[in-house]
Amino acid sequence: MKALADSSVTPPVHFAESYNCKENYQPQNLCVVTRPRPFTPEEKVKVLQLINDLPQTASPMLSQLLQPKNPLTFYRHQFGKKRVNSRSFRRNALIYAWVPSSGHPSLHLTDLFFAAVENINTDFTLQHYFLLHEMCHLFDKKMNDLSLSTEFLNFYDWEMVDYGKPFMLSGVETRNQHWQLSAISTEDVEAFREQIRELHGLGKNEEADRLSFEFGQKYGHPGSYSMTNPRENFAEILTSELLDPQRMANVPTDVRLWLARLLASKYP
Ligand SMILES: [Zn+2]
Repeated sequence: MKALADSSVTPPVHFAESYNCKENYQPQNLCVVTRPRPFTPEEKVKVLQLINDLPQTASPMLSQLLQPKNPLTFYRHQFGKKRVNSRSFRRNALIYAWVPSSGHPSLHLTDLFFAAVENINTDFTLQHYFLLHEMCHLFDKKMNDLSLSTEFLNFYDWEMVDYGKPFMLSGVETRNQHWQLSAISTEDVEAFREQIRELHGLGKNEEADRLSFEFGQKYGHPGSYSMTNPRENFAEILTSELLDPQRMANVPTDVRLWLARLLASKYP
């Protein structure tokens, strides 16, 4: 395995001892839902180890997030923001990134994150995958929303579509909008979602995972999760490129060249 750096060098990370529930206002009380607590010494070692394990090719990107003068803050919670058991939503319960409108971004790890020791290949586990995926979101933000740039949106023909009529919210006209892959038929996506729901309902999670992977591959993505919206698209292709390139086999060449350029960039 190619280590990110000399593992005797500790990545610049701050482990928060407590969590201010009032800081990040959400509809739910986050302390009731997520039950924050400090990291154990073993968990801190584990997180540092995971970061050090990440491949050298990720370092230009990671150096943007892990700056000695501005360490990345990690919080420990028992649960994720959404307490869901469905495997397809497992990411929500494992780890999430938080980027406040002002202040520092942070990463939030849960009990399920520390349990996700399953290998994705000989070099990496799900923990590496999920950690890097969330870091890709932070990187995307740091780079002024690369995933929403016209160049990126055009790779897969992302478009923002309205559904339902605009409505008034606190005196402001508000639209129901979502991202859609305009090159893919809505019926195909609906049929896929229905099949996934059915498989989860039957407890056939592995089959659902395989179907998700195949559906993504069919449309040039590493998996179906990459087809959720441009942000997940960006995080999934970058994470797969770095940790599990086999999943990139059907990804268009121009996307892979773009990623190669991105990873080779020198950032100030
Ligand atoms: Zn994500």
